Amino acid sequence: MPIKPFAFINDQLEQRKSQHLYRSSVPINGKQSRYIDINGKQYLNFSSNDYLGLASDPALINAWKKGADLFGIGSGGSYLVTGYNQVHRDVTQQLQEWLGVESIALFSSGYSANQAIIKLLLSKNDLLIQDKLNHASLMEAGANSPVKMQRFKHNNIQHLQTILSANTEIDNKLVISEGVFSMDGDCAPIDSLQQQCQSHQAWLMIDDAHGLGVLGKEGTGSVSAQNINNNDIDIYMSTFGKALGIGGAFVSGSSQLIDYITNFSKPYIYTTGLPPAMVYCIGESARIVQTQQWRRDHLSELIAYFKLLSMKFELPLMPSNTAIQPILIGLSDTAITISQTLKKSGIWTTAIRPPTVPNNTARLRVTLTVNHQKQDIEFLVKQIKQAIDANLDE
Ligand SMILES: *Cc1c(COP(=O)(O)O)cnc(C)c1O
Repeated sequence: MPIKPFAFINDQLEQRKSQHLYRSSVPINGKQSRYIDINGKQYLNFSSNDYLGLASDPALINAWKKGADLFGIGSGGSYLVTGYNQVHRDVTQQLQEWLGVESIALFSSGYSANQAIIKLLLSKNDLLIQDKLNHASLMEAGANSPVKMQRFKHNNIQHLQTILSANTEIDNKLVISEGVFSMDGDCAPIDSLQQQCQSHQAWLMIDDAHGLGVLGKEGTGSVSAQNINNNDIDIYMSTFGKALGIGGAFVSGSSQLIDYITNFSKPYIYTTGLPPAMVYCIGESARIVQTQQWRRDHLSELIAYFKLLSMKFELPLMPSNTAIQPILIGLSDTAITISQTLKKSGIWTTAIRPPTVPNNTARLRVTLTVNHQKQDIEFLVKQIKQAIDANLDE
């Protein structure tokens, strides 16, 4: 008897459910900022990557409308055909100047940019070295590529050095780390990574999805926050979907690298260009991020306040100084129970579970944004404390 085709679909979904790892999307009504409306109920939103509060910013909503009037809503083609508008060029140049990088290629998403780079630059005889906690888009691209991939222990330069020293004969070595780790909130030691790469003739790529806009002078990211120029990192990538509040992504590097992407990268070439209205809006967002330092200052105050209160209430914080402040819970179902208890009190935080994070490190991923007020944080910390204690008592 032949088995039922694609039986794994049902099997794996059932398995996810029985392991409390099943996921589905929850629709949000209207715009999101300090609160989100779900099923007619208002929740304090502690689960957003909109760190600078720009996703529903009135000035940016107007910019998107203005961009639509000026350039239309669809690009009408891929970048090498007719999908590259003057606005793509202008905003690209603006970003290059802001970030101090030589050249930039736009991508539809960070996911696609990461897949593109790994696919484009690495083949069978090369070596890809990634921090163990790198984002799924990087890990998956590495796993699907014929390249040899090794992972070094999280932020462990010694381990990286061991791997690099053992592979001196390999010509093309690419080391990739996130700038700010998306599920842990801690930062990579970029200067040490850079030193290791330079002394072993490897390239360094930083995925700064959670650092751009939030860290560094004028929001120029994790690298500049550590007093290194973005231009001195071989490949610097980030997205417009986190602190910039919109969507889309870019890769930056030498003009020659970007030229190579433009000529050889299929995810760059065979995709419709980002909508021009959206690109115009990205440009306006970058201007706000660059000039409105008060947003970063306010966010820093909120982060410090959250940490102070959490220590007072002895919450299991993880070592992070960024807007990503995970509360370590451990077991997946405990994390879900706590997250559900918080929802009953009107707080939205997501329980992050394996396989997104390692086994037994399920956590509440609390993220702070400019939209929060101190009283929101006081309420949050007290409610987390109660929910954790109630769970211990059971
Ligand atoms: C969100 C994220 C991405 C993917 O970016 P998208 O534009 O959302 O596809 C890549 N890397 C990291 C570290 C991220 O957090």
